Amino acid sequence: MSNVNSWRSGPDADGRFGLFGGRFVAETLMPLILQLERDYEKTKGDPSFKAELDDFLKNYVGRPSPLYYAERLTDHVREKAGATKGAKIYLKRDELNHTGAHKINNCMGQILLARRMGKTRIIAETGAGQHGVATATVCARFGMPCIIYMGAVDVERQKPNVFRMKLLGAEVRPVTSGATTLKDAMNEALRDWVSNVDDTFYIIGTAAGPHPYPAMVRDFQSVIGHEAKAQMQEREGRLPDVIMACIGGGSNAIGLFHPFLDDKEVEIIGVEAAGHGVDSGQHAASLTGGRPGVLHGNRTYLLQDDDGQIIDAHSISAGLDYPGIGPEHAFLHDSGRVTYLSATDEEALEAFQLCSRLEGIIPALEPAHALARAIDRAAEMERDQILLLNMCGRGDKDIFTVADHLGVEI
Ligand SMILES: *Cc1c(COP(=O)(O)O)cnc(C)c1O
Repeated sequence: MSNVNSWRSGPDADGRFGLFGGRFVAETLMPLILQLERDYEKTKGDPSFKAELDDFLKNYVGRPSPLYYAERLTDHVREKAGATKGAKIYLKRDELNHTGAHKINNCMGQILLARRMGKTRIIAETGAGQHGVATATVCARFGMPCIIYMGAVDVERQKPNVFRMKLLGAEVRPVTSGATTLKDAMNEALRDWVSNVDDTFYIIGTAAGPHPYPAMVRDFQSVIGHEAKAQMQEREGRLPDVIMACIGGGSNAIGLFHPFLDDKEVEIIGVEAAGHGVDSGQHAASLTGGRPGVLHGNRTYLLQDDDGQIIDAHSISAGLDYPGIGPEHAFLHDSGRVTYLSATDEEALEAFQLCSRLEGIIPALEPAHALARAIDRAAEMERDQILLLNMCGRGDKDIFTVADHLGVEI
């Protein structure tokens, strides 16, 4: 581990976390990015902004989310682990948020900022549609026009979420360039932003993109970690020994991790999607199976071929299906503060079913990846130790995918 005073001090003035992050954007975008950075810096310290955000998080989103002791999962691990082993497993219940996942924490923060900046039109990109739905939701709440860019392939694959966005009043624009998936939708949204500078705010859905997005999204998602820390103190009188979360772009994970980064006694583990296995080439594990490059305005680990062309990610979970990862995770990986593991489609499917049967909680496939590794890790730990997992989304959206894999017709 490198010798730093605080793991929480980044990014620097250029938006970098060590060798990662930054603002790799076209000249035309630069003034927008710099203006956003100034406005965010000014607004985030304003007590009236914080009060407004807290009020919406409490009364509209449903925060704080509970911290729940998963007793039957813990017992299950202890039965297999033997005499003295098997940590207590706690779940941070962010799947109970309005719209069923953590994404709304960030969308609420960004739309309130957009309003204060005088913006009147919202754009966003979405892959699986979860971020699109959360964005369309807050736009409906504040009566703002909402344009969602979505790869044409994804529009076809994610019909229920496309319909949800339309019900919420959003316009979904299918993107037909490139591979017509998430990264192409991101490029199209950036293009829209450049040509509608004056009135438009771009809500990015994960802790990626050019500075200040990775830091801003992290800040809005850090409500997860701040709550969890206070709740754990109240329940157990101490911090957890291990905290874990799944990683797509990395927003729910950095939201849980960031408030704990300087607590040296807390081990931190992120879990990427290994798809059919990291060796198969069909996965979404950017840190485990990728290398550094530049995409969407920042330098980070990416899935790419020998020529530097971005490779489409694969995961059973559409929300983890992103060929990059937020730059702060790239930094935390290289510096050794956070450990990054991966779980395959099969392992996630198994954890999905286990959690449903043992806890009465049908998890999203994304956190099911983290749960698969959490079960292994808890079995190696002592019984008086504590493992905390972020249950970042619920599984209603995934039942058709799971049924399909189990060979069941609904
Ligand atoms: C979108 C999504 C993810 C992946 O995004 P992160 O930015 O990595 O958090 C994970 N879980 C759920 C439930 C999601 O909807």
